Amino acid sequence: MHEMSIAQSILDIALEEIARQGCDRLDLIRVECGALAGVVPDSLQFCFEALVQGGPHAAARLEVVSLPLRLRCSACGRTFGGEGQEALWQPCPACGALTGHTVEQGKELQISHLEASASGGPIHKPTACGHAAARRALRKRAGVPGGNDANSCGAQRSGSQ
Ligand SMILES: [Zn+2]
Repeated sequence: MHEMSIAQSILDIALEEIARQGCDRLDLIRVECGALAGVVPDSLQFCFEALVQGGPHAAARLEVVSLPLRLRCSACGRTFGGEGQEALWQPCPACGALTGHTVEQGKELQISHLEASASGGPIHKPTACGHAAARRALRKRAGVPGGNDANSCGAQRSGSQ
């Protein structure tokens, strides 16, 4: 299953990141998943749970935040959106232009937030993890072409949910 390898990537990246922060127990991973990322959120959840089951991170939760598609019309500049891939082929609601829309949002597949703790103590250590390497790794695994690496770090975005 496609989602299984993505779930494995997410877990690998998260564990690497929390180790860097001095934590050894993963509590929460939040992943932003664009409408064009080609990932089924329910399936990703299922795979993640299967991966951590019975292990040291069995209590870890995966939150998948679905990001709808947002397009900008290159003719008139109007932004509009939709839920699925088919929304890519809709005409601009303002001027009717059929082509040349820019994808402003929808290709994302990235970890936007991580929470972990150290088994030595109850200290909760929320940490933002939006580093480019993690995003690249995930995108590669998912086969999502391109994307906007100029996007912000997860630190600013995690509060908006
Ligand atoms: Zn337009």
